[in-house]
Amino acid sequence: MNEAVLELKSVTKSYNHGTAAQIDVLRGVDLRLAAGEMVALVAPSGAGKSTLLHIAGLLDTPDGGSVHVAGQGGDGKGDGKRTTLRRQDVGFVYQFHHLLPEFSALENIVLPQLANGTPQDAARLRALELLSLVGLSNRANHRPAALSGGEQQRVAFCRALANSPRVLLADEPTGNLDPGTSDQVFAALMDLVSGTGLSALVATHNPDLAARMDRRVKLEHGRLVDF
Ligand code: ADP
Repeated sequence: MNEAVLELKSVTKSYNHGTAAQIDVLRGVDLRLAAGEMVALVAPSGAGKSTLLHIAGLLDTPDGGSVHVAGQGGDGKGDGKRTTLRRQDVGFVYQFHHLLPEFSALENIVLPQLANGTPQDAARLRALELLSLVGLSNRANHRPAALSGGEQQRVAFCRALANSPRVLLADEPTGNLDPGTSDQVFAALMDLVSGTGLSALVATHNPDLAARMDRRVKLEHGRLVDF
């Protein structure tokens, strides 16, 4: 069987709202993402999609169960080790691009690599290679404000992939774009995922986009079900 790049087993998470009743958001989530697989995560608002993505991406810890990224356990480790695992093996993309406005597209992709210890020249080459993969070589020196919404989001994909993570977690990555642009940007994301052998878990409300992925899971009553 194909190696699991991301594996969640019996993950639980509850929140306490002061004196109000406890909310059991995740009640035993199981998920296995194989290498190169692109999976759609569909969840109604409030179902716990962000909670799940944060736990899968080692930004938060579960109350119970286990999370493995690239074969390494994300729980039971000190915060430092979890941060290193996250920085090396997980890329995040959000609905809004969150690019740094005072830096160019290229610099936005170079900076996370410098933070990870990559030498400047290699980081620049990697950034140019990624920009070329999403068809933005001619926008490398533009700041985010000089890019269209779709271009900004394609740069955000490149930034998420800058440190060659094993898994990409995306939260409504095209949710802020008009339908035509959303389609193009999603196609760029699929090309990037297949071109780099990356695995991706992509939260989306868009049934057409979900249908184009390898597999679909739905978060229902705190558990994931295939559909
Ligand atoms: P979604 O992303 O699907 O909209 P969330 O994961 O953000 O859902 O939230 C799921 C539920 O958990 C909601 O009822 C929300 O109010 C609650 N919740 C999320 N984060 C916290 C938190 N840090 N503290 C308390 N309750 C939270």
